[in-house]
Amino acid sequence: MSERASWFYRILISKRDTKRRPVSRAPRAPEPHEAYSGLIRLHVLHHASEGAVFGLGMIEELGRHGYRLSPGTLYPMLRELEREGLLRSERRRVDGKIRCLYRATPAGRKALKIGKQRVLELFQEIFEDRG
Ligand SMILES: [Zn+2]
Repeated sequence: MSERASWFYRILISKRDTKRRPVSRAPRAPEPHEAYSGLIRLHVLHHASEGAVFGLGMIEELGRHGYRLSPGTLYPMLRELEREGLLRSERRRVDGKIRCLYRATPAGRKALKIGKQRVLELFQEIFEDRG
């Protein structure tokens, strides 16, 4: 390939590269919870295995642990856990309001058990050289 041809080739490649990526769109800022969404899911499973939980109650509970989640983030997460068969929901009247209550299924309890082992391992690894 001549020098001129290789230059042209590089231009073509770079043009194709820019076409592949949506350059016009600004990169999406990640939601702060995305890095530890697994921990939040595990937290939800933990409470849902002890008793029924509902969205707003869970948002409050997570808030006590420093996780600030909006309903727009938590509700899809609850529905996803239900789709995965880890939670089961039922509608109940609580204090005059219809609430969607979630409980852990047997598969959810099993996932929690494995998740707890993983968290313990991670915890030990992260903090092992702290002395
Ligand atoms: Zn908690």
